Amino acid sequence: MPTSGFQYRDRTFYCEDVSLDHIAERFGTPCYVYSAAAIATNYDSYGDALAGLPHDVYYAVKANGSLGILSLLARRGAGFDIVSGGELFRVLKAGGDPARVVFSGVGKTVSEMEYALRSGIGSFNCESEGEVVVLNETAGRFNAQPVVALRVNPDINADTHPYIATGLRDHKFGIPFETAERIYTESARFPNLRFEGVSCHIGSQIFDTNVFYEALDKVLALVAKLRDAGVAVRQLDLGGGLGIAYRPEETTPSISGYAAGLVRALRGKDLRLMIEPGRSIVGQAGVLLTRVVYRKPAESKQFFIVDAAMNDLIRPALYQSHHEIVPVAQRDAEMVMADVVGPVCETGDFLARDRLMPAVDPGELLAICTAGAYGFVQASNYNGRPRAAEVLVEGATVRLIRERETYDDLVRGESPLGATEPVS
Ligand SMILES: *Cc1c(COP(=O)(O)O)cnc(C)c1O
Repeated sequence: MPTSGFQYRDRTFYCEDVSLDHIAERFGTPCYVYSAAAIATNYDSYGDALAGLPHDVYYAVKANGSLGILSLLARRGAGFDIVSGGELFRVLKAGGDPARVVFSGVGKTVSEMEYALRSGIGSFNCESEGEVVVLNETAGRFNAQPVVALRVNPDINADTHPYIATGLRDHKFGIPFETAERIYTESARFPNLRFEGVSCHIGSQIFDTNVFYEALDKVLALVAKLRDAGVAVRQLDLGGGLGIAYRPEETTPSISGYAAGLVRALRGKDLRLMIEPGRSIVGQAGVLLTRVVYRKPAESKQFFIVDAAMNDLIRPALYQSHHEIVPVAQRDAEMVMADVVGPVCETGDFLARDRLMPAVDPGELLAICTAGAYGFVQASNYNGRPRAAEVLVEGATVRLIRERETYDDLVRGESPLGATEPVS
C-alpha cells in the first residue's frame, strides 16, 4: 500500500498526528505540509524490494529539493540524482554524500562540471558526444577520472503527458543506441573518463511498469553488445518515472512490485542497478494547505478564491494535472460545482476546474493533495507573491523546514537604479 501520511480523524484532516488547522494557525497559509513517515516508507520500499541485487537508490532532487527532505533521505542512506550545480549545493548543504551523487541533464556547463568534480561526486550521466568531449577536457584539468554513463535513448513511448515523456528519438534527451555504441568503443579518445555505466530515463508519471521492463531489455541488449566489444560495463541506471495516483479512482503502482520485476530481470547479470525515483517517494507525502479568501458565485458554478495560486503549485496550469482538494474540517455541506482559483491575474491560475466538491466559506481551510512532488520546486514570485512556508511532520512533531518568504526576500539582489558597469 502506498502511504501518504494524511487521513481524517474525527472529521479533521491530519498529517500523521498533527491536525492541519493547527499547522495553519501556527505557520499560516499557503503552506506545504509533508509527512516524514510517508517519505521514509516510500524510500525504504525501494531498498527493501531491491535487497537481492547490488543497487543504489538515487533520489531525484528535482522532484522536491527542500533541505529538510534531502536531509531526511540522506540520513536514511539515499544517494541523489541532480540536474544542476544548484541541486548539488542543496545536497551538500543537507549532508548528502557526494560520492553517492549522479549528475544528469542535457546542458551541464563547464563551471557546473568543475563544481561537481571538486566536490567529488560519484558519476556523470552524459547526454551527448559534445558533453563527453567537454567533460573529458574538464576532468583532465582537474586530474580527475570520473565514472561516466551515457544516457541512451531506448526510443520507447511511455504513455504519459507529452511534457514529461523523455524516451523517444525526437526528444532532446539521451543518445541513440548506435551513437552510444560508437562512443563507448572509442573511449580511448577520452582518457580522463571511466565508461562504466549505461543509463536511461524514459519519462515520468508512468503507470505501466512493462514500459520500464521493455526499456531495461533494450538496455541489457546494448550492455551485452558492449561487453562483447570489450567495454567493461558495471552499472545500469534505469532512471526514475514510476507514477502515482492523483485521482481516487486510480491505483498507485506498487513500488515493491515494480522493483521485484527489476530484480528478476537483472539477477545474474553482474550489474549494479541504480534507480532515480522522485515523484514516487515524495508526491503523495505532501499537501498544499490553503485558506479560502472569498466565495464568488458565477452563472453556472462558483469560484472558491484561495490564498494559494499557480505561483505556489503550477501543475494544474502547466500539465492540466488533477489534484484532489479536500476540506480540512469536514461538515455536512452541499455539493457544488466549483473552480478553485488563486489571486494571480491569469485565467490559467486555477487549482481545480469544474470540480464537484463540498461548499466552503471564506476562512475555511483546504488541502490540495498529492503536492509533494514538482510542487514547491516550481514555485515562483509571480505577482509579487512571497513563496510559501514548508513544514515536515514526524509523528506529533512539526518542523518548519522553510520560512515563508518576506517582502524583503522579493527584492533581494535588486537595486532601483542598478550598479554601473563600465563597458570597455
Ligand atoms: C525527472 C527525472 C527523474 C525522476 O523522475 P520521477 O518521475 O520524479 O521519478 C529521474 N532521473 C532523471 C534523469 C530525471 O530527469
